[in-house]
Amino acid sequence: MTGIASKLTDFAAGITAIDVDYVRPRLAASHLVIDGGRAAFVDTGTTHSVPNLLAALAEKDVDPAEVDWVLATHVHLDHAGGAGALMRLLPNARCAVHPRGARHLAEPSKLIAGSIAVYGEERYRSLYGDIVPIDESRMFVPEDGATIQLGGRELELIHTPGHALHHYCIVDREHSVIFSGDTFGLSYRDLDVDGREFIFPTTTPVHFDPEALCNSVDRLMSYTPQAIYLTHYAEVRDLNRLAREMKTRVRAFADLGRRYAAAPDRAGKLRNGMFAMMSIWLDEHGFPRDDSERHRLLDDDIDLNCQGIEFWLDRK
Ligand SMILES: [Zn+2]
Repeated sequence: MTGIASKLTDFAAGITAIDVDYVRPRLAASHLVIDGGRAAFVDTGTTHSVPNLLAALAEKDVDPAEVDWVLATHVHLDHAGGAGALMRLLPNARCAVHPRGARHLAEPSKLIAGSIAVYGEERYRSLYGDIVPIDESRMFVPEDGATIQLGGRELELIHTPGHALHHYCIVDREHSVIFSGDTFGLSYRDLDVDGREFIFPTTTPVHFDPEALCNSVDRLMSYTPQAIYLTHYAEVRDLNRLAREMKTRVRAFADLGRRYAAAPDRAGKLRNGMFAMMSIWLDEHGFPRDDSERHRLLDDDIDLNCQGIEFWLDRK
């Protein structure tokens, strides 16, 4: 396989995961959903990801004019950074964005400043490039439980705070699937052991709220989905176990924060503590005991997660 075909993974119900080439292979996906000749993207990656999204449409014989929706689960830039650039190429699409996120996509300056604060100027530039604003007349701003139509199917958009206050998830009741953005955590395929999935929470700044996140996981599970599609990365199916582990691990991260809340070098202690904690989970999971490989796969998330826990501690 060459070109875009090697970056696509097809699932049931007209769902395809597209590798958006963010940081490393199979770290971030956009999901393309096709129904009755109409299409939606769930999350977009960054502005740099847009060529992959268009190539995926071409590969699936979908015209850009047949895309009805760009569904930005939340406005973090690895999910919605490319939404504005993409919208310019999709003449009939509307962009669905949470009421608390809409103004950030219409006028991205605060989003850009916030991301530079997290990543630093240089890394921000290479990761995200330019952020194109979206005209408010092309936005759909869903209240909790709003429904939209995609071809023959109905999608329900539910507000799921805990990772971000501007987060919603997309429920497809007919096909028993949910697109969870970051609400159901991260499950990299590189961490699978014999097809068994490994999951952990993402507590990125600035809205981490452990109880709200656990409640949102419960709410997703209340729909009894058969599969959940994560932006990081694609399909997971062992949902009862993963939901239980997600909630245990959200609480473990919060406990780690409380333990070091007043410690000198709090940031360093959190980072070391989180790596040690995740190493125990990976040992239990049967992942190879190779610290350099674990650091390669986890250090960026550990860094973001610890920053998010510090924001939460300072807010409390
Ligand atoms: Zn996020």
